[in-house]
Amino acid sequence: MTDDCLFCNIISGQMDTDFVYEDESIVAFKDINPMAPVHILIVPKKHIPTVNDILEQDTELVGRMVQVAQKMASQQDIDEDGYRLVFNCGEMGGQEINHLHLHLLGGRKMEWPAG
Ligand code: AMP
Ligand code: ZN
Repeated sequence: MTDDCLFCNIISGQMDTDFVYEDESIVAFKDINPMAPVHILIVPKKHIPTVNDILEQDTELVGRMVQVAQKMASQQDIDEDGYRLVFNCGEMGGQEINHLHLHLLGGRKMEWPAG
């Protein structure tokens, strides 16, 4: 938990954000500025700044984030049509919030290469 981290504040309930999923180590909530009809952020409760900071001991947690994304995709009924999972990392990767999060995007055709 880092006081000046927006996602840590969301996780601790200070922002009144509705969670679409929560367990002991992960939350998921809708992106405030959705880039697709379905845009959900899957966020570990542990403050890990970027993909560069994922430790060997976090690998199970990160795997579980992907499983939560799979569950959310099924719940949102986009699993059969397909969807995109994105980790932005650092400035060049377009990361704005320095607390690890996985974007689940779906409900429209995704373009490639990504912008
Ligand atoms: P990134 O650019 O990968 O760091 O993504 C950060 C995401 O967090 C962006 O898609 C923002 O729209 C989203 N975001 C920022 N503030 C909030 C908030 N209070 N609640 C939900 N999503 C947020
Ligand atoms: Zn944080």
